[in-house]
Amino acid sequence: MTTKHITHWIAGQEWSGSAERRGDVYDPATGKVTGQVDFASIAEVDQAVGAAVTAFRGWRDASVAKRTQVLFAFRELLNQHRDELAAIIVSEHGKVHSDALGEIARGLEVVEYACGIPQLLKGGFTEQASTGIDVYSIRQPLGPVAVVSPFNFPAMVPMWFFPIAIAAGNTVVLKPSEKDPSAAGFLARLWQRAGLPDGVFNVVHGDKTAVDRLLEHPDIKAVSFVGSTPIARYVYETGTRYGKRVQALGGAKNHMLVLPDADLDLAADAAVNAGFGAAGERCMAVSVLVAVDPVGDELVARIKERMAALKVGPGCSGDSEMGPLVTGAHRDKVASYLDAGVADGATLAVDGRSHPVDGAETADGFWLGPTLFDHVKPGMSVYNDEIFGPVLSVVRVGSYDEGLELINANPYGNGTALFTNDGGAARRFQREVEVGMVGINVPIPVPVAYYSFGGWKASLFGDTHAYGPDGVHFFTRGKAVTQRWLDPSHGGINLGFPTNS
Ligand code: NAD
Repeated sequence: MTTKHITHWIAGQEWSGSAERRGDVYDPATGKVTGQVDFASIAEVDQAVGAAVTAFRGWRDASVAKRTQVLFAFRELLNQHRDELAAIIVSEHGKVHSDALGEIARGLEVVEYACGIPQLLKGGFTEQASTGIDVYSIRQPLGPVAVVSPFNFPAMVPMWFFPIAIAAGNTVVLKPSEKDPSAAGFLARLWQRAGLPDGVFNVVHGDKTAVDRLLEHPDIKAVSFVGSTPIARYVYETGTRYGKRVQALGGAKNHMLVLPDADLDLAADAAVNAGFGAAGERCMAVSVLVAVDPVGDELVARIKERMAALKVGPGCSGDSEMGPLVTGAHRDKVASYLDAGVADGATLAVDGRSHPVDGAETADGFWLGPTLFDHVKPGMSVYNDEIFGPVLSVVRVGSYDEGLELINANPYGNGTALFTNDGGAARRFQREVEVGMVGINVPIPVPVAYYSFGGWKASLFGDTHAYGPDGVHFFTRGKAVTQRWLDPSHGGINLGFPTNS
């Protein structure tokens, strides 16, 4: 079988060199190697950054009207080719086709937001701030910026950043995950067809070597990173040491708190959707369900019923609701938590290892069915660690306060959800919970594109969230201009500090 070869996209074309190192790309549903991706050395990263530096000179001067036209054209192309892009994502990530379309739709939302860049870049103007003096503010692009993204959303996460970065007049070097690299090249070609000048959007593939070079490169002005917490912390510390703006989004352990007055069918549906969608490989997945007494038994029963009916199979099959995990190593790591949880004293209520997998040629795929642990407690590894797989843990608590305390004591603070019919409890929760994104009867509260996405605590390093107003702020620098057009009658020496008059 011939396999594909995936390489960098620099200055509007595929890189033509020969890579010193490459990585395998798999189809997670079959477990087969389907291609190799080139890993960039320092020289290739420098080439991509060089292209971004050259392109910045022209792109920063392109009119806002011109940049907006390119954005709109990209939006149209992305919309037209969403099925093709979804198929690419399914073939390397493993998620089901409808879910891949969902991530493209959420990326598209950010592109649409960025189409409004003329409005978003408008500054303020104060006439006659002092006598004869006007003051106004402008926002300008930073220069070449880097985006480093994780495997779990190969299209959406890069699109949290690059549409706004490009619309604002920056140029971009994207380093996608080496596990599912093809979506990035597809997006690069769409940009070219949309009329984006060569070098404004570049892609380098690879691993730590490429990321480290981007972090230290003097011409990279800002870094947007999404991935696991240890790497996010490292990227933040390293990038800021080199004087860059950095926003580094990390891992998560998202709790869903269910109060006794909640609609239990709604809560059970939500727990299953948010726990097992994309095989739990979402940073906003619900991985801990906190049941306030006495609803635990009933909730667990309803969740088990729904889990048994889930169709697990290849993402390209229309029947599948849940696909495989991304790699064999990741599947094995997630599966190891099943034994660890039992050893720690949790109840393995549903063992995903025995869930049937549909489809031909799946014997060697990276499968693990939906798994449920009950009576989980803090301190157990299934509670403490971000498992990032289809493993849902149920913790029983006696009261709202106990549940809130548990959530606030967790080192992560990405997303959380409350299920209740009590508006007062919901309002208290939204005020008291120490988490960046909160859902009230909504299990995956990913904010729409005109708000911003970001967690608290170990889920985000830096002080700006992704996309929305924070995204515009991150990818631009403010300038305040104090202006006077000389009145011939005015002048004279005055060494005092300027005050308003
Ligand atoms: P990861 O941290 O392994 O990799 C992320 C990126 O960093 C990849 O591009 C990878 O090549 C690079 N990288 C890996 N090791 C590195 C190193 N030592 N030095 C420099 N760069 C390195 O993450 P992943 O497994 O691809 O993605 C899953 C993780 O991402 C989960 O922890 C998940 O919660 C997190 N995530 C968070 C969000 C969020 O919004 N907070 C969104 C999506 C995913």
